[in-house]
Formats: sequence, structure tokens, C-alpha cells
Amino acid sequence: MSAKLIKGTEIREQILEEITSEVAEIKEKHGVVPGLVTILVGENPASISYVTLKIKTAHRVGFKEIQDTQSETISEEDLLALIDKYNKDESINGILVQLPLPKHVDDKKVLNAIDPDKDVDGFHPVNVGRLMIGGDEVKFPPCTPAGIQEMIVRAGVETKGAEVVVVGRSNIVGKPIANMMLQKGPGANATVTIVHTGTKDLAAHCQRADILIVAAGVPDLVKPEWIKPGACVIDVGVNRVGEKISEKTGKKIAILKGDVDFDAAKEIAGSITPVPGGVGPMTITMLMLNTLKSLKFKLGIA
Ligand code: NAD
Repeated sequence: MSAKLIKGTEIREQILEEITSEVAEIKEKHGVVPGLVTILVGENPASISYVTLKIKTAHRVGFKEIQDTQSETISEEDLLALIDKYNKDESINGILVQLPLPKHVDDKKVLNAIDPDKDVDGFHPVNVGRLMIGGDEVKFPPCTPAGIQEMIVRAGVETKGAEVVVVGRSNIVGKPIANMMLQKGPGANATVTIVHTGTKDLAAHCQRADILIVAAGVPDLVKPEWIKPGACVIDVGVNRVGEKISEKTGKKIAILKGDVDFDAAKEIAGSITPVPGGVGPMTITMLMLNTLKSLKFKLGIA
């Protein structure tokens, strides 16, 4: 293997340590800790395990954390009233509504009801606009793209003037990470191309990339010959391609694969993220960072 592995699991530990000590410092100086509420509607098993992990991480870094679980039958009106309650709650700095929501609820309406200054997921149109403007306007970059940028920076990859190619144009990964990488500032200032299902020659674009960010959701989409020798490859894709029995627990678990043919790509790339253990662990980590930031904005120390 020639490529350096960029391990999200290791970077997560570093960042969570940093957050923990900053939280302790703020608590001592200002007598407050960041407050995060996660609203879970219904009993979707995937949502429950994701929310449980968020709560566990929030607890680990010393946040006040609330898991507010609501019945599947909650009305849209009551859900909006709940958001309003947390918008007004001075001890809460971040509000998360776990998706998907039941069909009778308009999720756009619910997400847009969150106070943009507590929208630590960064999906509120106000925060999308702030991200587009860049610089000091940005409050909460969306968590997965923020994690990607953090990994690139911490891996010591030069972004200024780099050719960045992003595969995928979703609102949660492709568009925001492309937008972040083109801003004038540290960890960015790159020349960015977004490719997608309408692109004529995907391979030719990818071959130009000094930094290739792939978020398509198609296993092994990126072939080794698409990778420029020495490039930094960030594989965001998480694709379930089968099941296996876990050696640790003896239970059935999913076999996960990224969007990049990892075994072949690692022989060509300069650095690469694995799947699992690459971008995945960064999302919740950056959510914690955004919640801490939210309190810092409120205290005027950001
Ligand atoms: P999405 O389906 O919303 O968007 C995929 C994008 O890829 C689309 O814009 C589409 O145009 C493009 N695309 C799809 N097939 C393509 C092809 N053959 N050629 C070129 N472009 C193609 O997906 P998403 O929400 O952006 O997620 C992408 C992947 O990243 C998924 O595997 C998802 O599970 C994973 N993901 C991981 C994390 C994490 O690790 N924390 C977070 C979000 C998403």
C-alpha cells in the first residue's frame, strides 16, 4: 500500500478530546455547558441507533443532552410547538430533528422552524445562505462536509490552488463541500468542479483531481485509472453490499463498501479514507463542534 490512510476514527478522538477540554474551560469561566436536544419521532431502529450515538457522544464531551422522544402519531402542530419551546430555551444551543419524520408531517416546515442560530445540522436555508457567502457569515457548516474539510486539513493536504473534483451534487454533501472548498480561506481556496449523473466524461474530470471527493452512493464507481497518482481521495460513500457475522458480537452486520475501489486506489493515491472508519465517524464529531460553537457565539467568545 502506498497511500497514507486518513482515519476518521483517529481524527474523531483528537477532536472530541479538544472539545472536552474546551467545554471544561467554558464551564469554569462562564458556568455553562453546551446544550443539545435531539427530537426523535417514532421508533425507526436506524434512527434510534443514530440518536443513541449522538447522545452518547454529547455526554462524553460534557454537554447537557436531552433526548426528546415523541410518538409516531404526534401532530405537525405539536411538533412545531416543541421546536418553539426549545428555540426559547436558554440552556439549549443545538436542536436536532432526526429524519425521517412520519408521512403526515411536512419535514421541510419542521426543519425550517428551528432557530437558525440553533441549527447545528446546518441545513436551514439561512445557514445554507451563510455558507454560500462564506467568511465570517458561516455559523454552522453542515456536519459531513465540515468533517471532510477537517480530514483534508489534518492530513496536511494543500488545498490552496488545488484542483478539487466533487462527485455528487446532493444538498447534504456534494454542493456544500464544493462550496466550502472554493471559499477564500484556510483549508480551501481551491479550484472546484462538481460532476454528477449529467456529466459527459466522469473519468476525465476525476483524473485532474489533486483532491477527489466522492459522494455518489454507488459502490466502486471510481476506478483506479480515474485517480491521479498522489491524489488525496475522500470516499464519502457508504453502501451496504451484503451481510456478515460480526467476530466481536456474533450478530449479523452489514458489509459496507465505499464509492471508490479502495484496494486498487490505495496503490495510486497519496492519501485515502477507508470505508468504514473514514468520513463516517466525522459527522457526529462535527455536530458536537457546531453545538460548542453555538454556545461560543452566544457568549461572544467564538
Ligand atoms: P444522494 O443520492 O443524495 O446524491 C448522490 C449524488 O451522486 C447525486 O447528486 C448524483 O447526481 C450523483 N451520482 C449518483 N450516481 C452517479 C454516477 N453514476 N455518476 C455520477 N454521479 C452520480 O446521496 P448523498 O446523500 O449525497 O450521499 C452520497 C453517499 O454518501 C451515500 O453512499 C451516503 O450513504 C454517503 N453519506 C455518508 C455520510 C457519512 O459518512 N457521514 C453522510 C452522508 C452521506
